[in-house]
Amino acid sequence: MTATVNMPVGKSWLICPGCRALLYQRRVERNLGVCPECDHHDQVTAHQRIEQLFDLDSVEELPPVGAFGDPLGFVDTVPYPQRIEAARRRTGLDEAVVCVRGAVEGQPLIAAVMDFRFLGGSLGTGVGERITRAAELALETRTPLLIVSASGGARMQEGVLSLMQMAKTSAALGALDEAGVLTISLVSDPTYGGVAASFATLCDVILAEPGARLGFAGPRVIQQTLRQPLPAGFQTAEYLFARGMLDDLVPRSNLRSTIGRLLAFAGADRSAPDPHPVRATPAPESADPWAVVALSRDLGRPSTLDYIGHFVDGFVELHGDRLASDCPAIVGGVGLIDGRPTVVIGHQKGHTVAEVASRNFGMATPAGYRKAARLMRLAEKLGTPIVTLIDTPGAYHGISAEENGQALAIADNIRMMAGLTVPVVAIVTGEGGSGGALALGVGNRVLMLANATYSVISPEGCAAILWNDSGRADEAAAQLKLQAGDLLALGIVDGVVPEPPGGAPADPGATASAVHRAVVDALAELAGLNREEVRAHRRARFRQIGGLTNAGG
Ligand SMILES: [Zn+2]
Repeated sequence: MTATVNMPVGKSWLICPGCRALLYQRRVERNLGVCPECDHHDQVTAHQRIEQLFDLDSVEELPPVGAFGDPLGFVDTVPYPQRIEAARRRTGLDEAVVCVRGAVEGQPLIAAVMDFRFLGGSLGTGVGERITRAAELALETRTPLLIVSASGGARMQEGVLSLMQMAKTSAALGALDEAGVLTISLVSDPTYGGVAASFATLCDVILAEPGARLGFAGPRVIQQTLRQPLPAGFQTAEYLFARGMLDDLVPRSNLRSTIGRLLAFAGADRSAPDPHPVRATPAPESADPWAVVALSRDLGRPSTLDYIGHFVDGFVELHGDRLASDCPAIVGGVGLIDGRPTVVIGHQKGHTVAEVASRNFGMATPAGYRKAARLMRLAEKLGTPIVTLIDTPGAYHGISAEENGQALAIADNIRMMAGLTVPVVAIVTGEGGSGGALALGVGNRVLMLANATYSVISPEGCAAILWNDSGRADEAAAQLKLQAGDLLALGIVDGVVPEPPGGAPADPGATASAVHRAVVDALAELAGLNREEVRAHRRARFRQIGGLTNAGG
């Protein structure tokens, strides 16, 4: 692939490969190797990367790993040992990866940082062994692991032994999954082949620098095979982000703080809040159902991102389903609620017509439900509670949604949530529309805001189907019993969160505070249960809904 490194011009000037500007080298260095004119993220060495990310004086290199020699006796234009020796002299490194332990913003971290200068960052036995040992140390010490990738792929000179490093490193990451240790991948430019198809994409969180290219096959190979031009931006981080493959694009200047927040989440106190008696919530006075339907849809109500901004500290939004796209109608990520790590997921609408349209009216695609599922599996791995905020007219109805398995995605979420061993608190904050709501709604505790609704179908849809007249939606609203008080009586929800006088839009801050208190109360209520009991509790909760009581004779 083409090199995109800065070209030195004399001793103190260089030309940016992004914009061709002549830049003073010190200015680029001060900017962490990013062009101040065009934001091109130039390659940095492993040691520069470590210096940029870690706390000053916190870094210790992992013990040296012996040499693996020349297992195949490989000669390209020169014998392989000569090639290695030249790379060592040129870079001052003994391999294409540097492994360290240290701290980022005070939080412990083990990192394996690749260096593209060393034989194109190629993955051979030396690299695979070092990354595996770093992962094993992370396992032994239960310390989060960061892998920074920069590689053209497997190292041909070590033949099939290189290929096997994909399996070795992947197995080591699998052990970290079983042990519940957070793994983070940072994709830098370029990351290809066997590195892309193993540890670079197997981590819990995949971050990428702007412009970084990531792919299995190189663009030249693909172009030669297809004999047609590739799409603009093909394989860039931006291209892949839009297709759901990355959690986030993070400019180099924000990497340290983003990783710091992820580590703060992973390292936070996991003990459950003290159990305490939960405030009884009076059933709300019943209002006209059709009026409540309108209130539940009011765009002035706080959105999921508003709630997160109000009571989730150090939030890092994680994007994408790692399959097809990043659905804007569901947002999710990790952060701290009252100092305790929590995964928060919710439907996102917004407050203006433009914002609501850009969020597809809070109607999620299969990619949205798969993103939610992925984040819930992360919570299950790390043993952190899940809070879901439900506000959707329903799952998106459309051709592409059906083609991509909308029904399967919803079904999968419902079953997976039922089987989670971490506490789940679900709150209907606005519209609880049918399967699209329930796909985030299988909680140990299910709560509702006083003016929210929860229903198997919209009143308009119900009236249209049963009476062929959507104008009779008000009648349908009354019959469906979709208000909080009715649902409390039916045992569908466990509690109702009061809204301030005038409703949630009149005082979004007070509403968010009430939801915050309700979440913490609900988590405290579940605090006495171990993980198996949490699952059994949730299954029993849904088992008894509509179950016939056995009178015993
Ligand atoms: Zn530039």
